[in-house]
Amino acid sequence: MQETQKIRMKTVISAILISLLAMLSAACAAGTASNNAEQIHTASGEVFAMDTYMKITCSGKRSEEALEAAIAEIQRLDALLSVSGEESDINAVNTFGKAKISEDTAHIIEKALEISRATNGAFDISIYPIMRLWGFTDSEYRVPQREELESELEHVGFEKPIFTQDSLELGDAHGIDLGGIAKGFTSDRLMEVFDSYGMVSGCVSLGGNVQCYKRKTDGSLFRCGIAHPMYPDSSVYLGVVEVEDRAVVTSGAYERFFIDESSSKRYHHIIDPKTGYPAESGLSSTTIVSKSGMLADALSTACYVMGLEGSIEYWKEYGEDFDMILMTDDGDIYVTAPLAQSFTSSFHVNIIGE
Ligand code: ADP
Ligand code: MG
Repeated sequence: MQETQKIRMKTVISAILISLLAMLSAACAAGTASNNAEQIHTASGEVFAMDTYMKITCSGKRSEEALEAAIAEIQRLDALLSVSGEESDINAVNTFGKAKISEDTAHIIEKALEISRATNGAFDISIYPIMRLWGFTDSEYRVPQREELESELEHVGFEKPIFTQDSLELGDAHGIDLGGIAKGFTSDRLMEVFDSYGMVSGCVSLGGNVQCYKRKTDGSLFRCGIAHPMYPDSSVYLGVVEVEDRAVVTSGAYERFFIDESSSKRYHHIIDPKTGYPAESGLSSTTIVSKSGMLADALSTACYVMGLEGSIEYWKEYGEDFDMILMTDDGDIYVTAPLAQSFTSSFHVNIIGE
């Protein structure tokens, strides 16, 4: 364990937006089709933030301005929510143990704690010291000793941080990490940006977190392909879901991991807060479809930890706000009943809640 382990890391994008190009061509076609349409333009851009590639596309009369505002908002939130950087609320809390936090950060913390309570701690932003032990925070990957994990786990628990509207204190926790929820909050915010610039259609893909604004410019639904965990780099999808005004967020072990070459074991970045080890719940991919990007983001991570039975139980209690598409390690696919009509797959699909 003392020796430097040779490791390899790979990041792939989980959910691929099939329709961005289609949307673009539809927008061009629309230009000749309707009176007003020559004023509707599609703008799209890419930016690297929150440790991932983000793609933004929007259509409307002021699409260039909307795109610019969207990118500025991404950069502002990246600086505010990352675990490093001078402007980061999270860095301030982690460094000083207590800090004043902005309204945006407070809103995320409040929601994160609510989801932690509801998922019995499967989702837990106080996981940061464990992420650090595995090297996921600085890409210096290593397999920690069991004793190290056990000792840090004493400082993990969603009830430990003390949160009061505009301030956050670590309490007995050792650090906070919003990596499982920040992109979802950001995509929600981008929908508001699109709204304020009067966009007629839009779509963002923040490192696999997809969120669609309204419908495509030709009036059809957005088609989101969900990566198959066994062939994440290929065009073989687990399935395709058709949506409007929804976030589609996937978590999977294939998204970020390293291989410990001394044991050839793979270790991924979704941690079970009860054990400190990468979650092995029997699920290989969890997709959440919801109006709320923030909920979808946090729950895709939580369901990955809770496993099939736990996720189904959770959906039965809280499912009015979201639907899910799950794949087990054996390759069985499950989709919740309200989403079944919108989901197509070339594999056999089991329906939950019929
Ligand atoms: P990605 O960020 O790759 O899209 P996820 O949304 O599933 O994937 O989030 C994984 C990230 O969330 C990790 O990189 C880490 O920052 C954080 N995280 C890991 N495990 C948990 C957990 N049990 N609860 C809350 N956050 C977690
Ligand atoms: Mg997540």
